[in-house]
Amino acid sequence: MLRIFLKKQKKVLKVAVLINKLSALINIRMRTMFLFAHSLFTFLLISINGVFAQEKNISHVYQYAREVVDTMASFSMHGRGYVNDGDKIAANYISEEFKKLALLSFTKDYYQKFNFPVNTFPNTISLAVDDKKLVPGKDFIIAPNCPSAIGKYNVVVADEGLAQKKRKFKKFLKQDFKDKIILVNDTGKQTKELHSLLSNPCHANAIVSIRDKLIWSVSQSPIHYPSIELLRTSVLNAKEISFEIQNKFIADHPSQNVVGYIKGSLHPDSFIVFSAHYDHLGQMGKDVYFPGANDNASGCAMLLNLAKWYTAPANKPQKSIVFIAFAGEEAGLLGSKYFTEAPLMPLNNICFLLNMDILGTGEEGITVVNGSVFKNEFNKLVKINDQNHFIKEIKMRGKAANSDHYYFSEKGVKAFFIYTMGGINAYHDIYDRPETLPLNKFDSLFNLITLFCSSL
Ligand SMILES: [Zn+2]
Repeated sequence: MLRIFLKKQKKVLKVAVLINKLSALINIRMRTMFLFAHSLFTFLLISINGVFAQEKNISHVYQYAREVVDTMASFSMHGRGYVNDGDKIAANYISEEFKKLALLSFTKDYYQKFNFPVNTFPNTISLAVDDKKLVPGKDFIIAPNCPSAIGKYNVVVADEGLAQKKRKFKKFLKQDFKDKIILVNDTGKQTKELHSLLSNPCHANAIVSIRDKLIWSVSQSPIHYPSIELLRTSVLNAKEISFEIQNKFIADHPSQNVVGYIKGSLHPDSFIVFSAHYDHLGQMGKDVYFPGANDNASGCAMLLNLAKWYTAPANKPQKSIVFIAFAGEEAGLLGSKYFTEAPLMPLNNICFLLNMDILGTGEEGITVVNGSVFKNEFNKLVKINDQNHFIKEIKMRGKAANSDHYYFSEKGVKAFFIYTMGGINAYHDIYDRPETLPLNKFDSLFNLITLFCSSL
C-alpha cells in the first residue's frame, strides 16, 4: 500500500520537476502560465495525499511513527541519556505529545520523578593505537563503568594460547604491569583465565579486549581501572596504546517516568497499560551519540500512536488505558522498578500490561516474552494474527528480565514484552539510526496490538 503510494508520489514529483525545467527555458509570460500549471499539480498532489490518508488510517500511523523516531533519535536528544540533558529533553517531548492529545495525568505534569546514580562521559574520550587515532563508537568503546584515566603504555598480550599453558600463564601474571596495558584476545572460546583478567587486571594501567562487534551500555557506578574494547580490525599487532578518558559520576541523577491515561467509559477502575522506555545510552564523549532508533524510539512511536488512536472519540475504550514512557531502562530497568514500588494506581487493577521495546523491523515476526507464562493471552494474540495475516510469526518465549515488563509480572501483573525480529542488526551501537530503521511492519503491528487490546 505504502509502496504504491510512494511510487505514485514519485511519478507526480517527476512531472512537477519536468515542468519546472521547461519553465526556465521560456519567457516570463509563458512562465506565469507554467507556474499556474505547477500550482495545479501541487494542489493535485496534496489532494492525492489526502485521499490516501483518509482511505486508510495506516499511513497516518506510519507517518507519525517516522516523525517520532526521527525526532527522538536525532542529535538534539543526545542519545536520550545523561549528557546534555538528553533524557530530560526526551521526557519533555513525550509529555508535550501527551498534552497535545489531552491525556489525563495522575500527577501535575505527567512526571513521576525519581533519582538514580549513573556514570557518564560528557568530556574527552580519545584513544590511539601505535599513534593512529581511533574513532570512539566506531573503532573502540570504553566500558560504561570507566573512571577518568590518561596515559601512553606498552601492550602485553594475553591470548587463548597463553591461557591454556598453566605454568606460562602463572608466570605471565607475576610480571610487573606498572607501565603496561594488558590486551586480552579472548574472542572465540572464552577461557575462564582470560575472563578473570577482565575483572582483575593485576595493577595494569588498563585492560583492553578485542571484539568483533562493539556493544555499549550504561553503568550505575565506576570501577577503579579503565576497561576498553577495540574492534578486531583496529588492533593489528598493537605495540603501544595511548588514551584519555574523562568520566563524570552523578550520584543522584534526577529522572522521571512519563505517565498519561484515558479514563474508561464503562470500567474506569480497570487498567490496560501500554509501556515503552524512552531512555537510551546517551553520549560517549562530546561528539559521539547513540541514536537508539530501534531501541527504543520505535517503541515510543507505538506508544504515542496508540495514545493518539484511543483519544479519538470513535475509539474511546471501556477500560482505562495508561501510557507509560519509562526512564532508566538501560541503566537496569530502574523506571519500571520504581513504578512497581510506587504505583500511580493499584497494581491489582491492571488487567494487562503490554511492554514494547524494539519494534522497528519485523520481517521475521515478533517474540513475546512471558508468552508461555500467560498462555490464554498468547493464544488470543496468535489467533488474531492467524485471522488477519499481520506478521510472519509470533514466537513464544518464557520469563526474562530483559525489559520493563519484568517487575510487573514479578508482582503478579499479567504482562507481555514484545519485540520485532529480522532486518537490521544494529543494537546498542552508533548504527541504530533512524534512516536505516525500516518500520516496515509497523502498521501491521499497530493493527495487531489494537485488536489484541479489544480482545482483553
Ligand atoms: Zn530497549
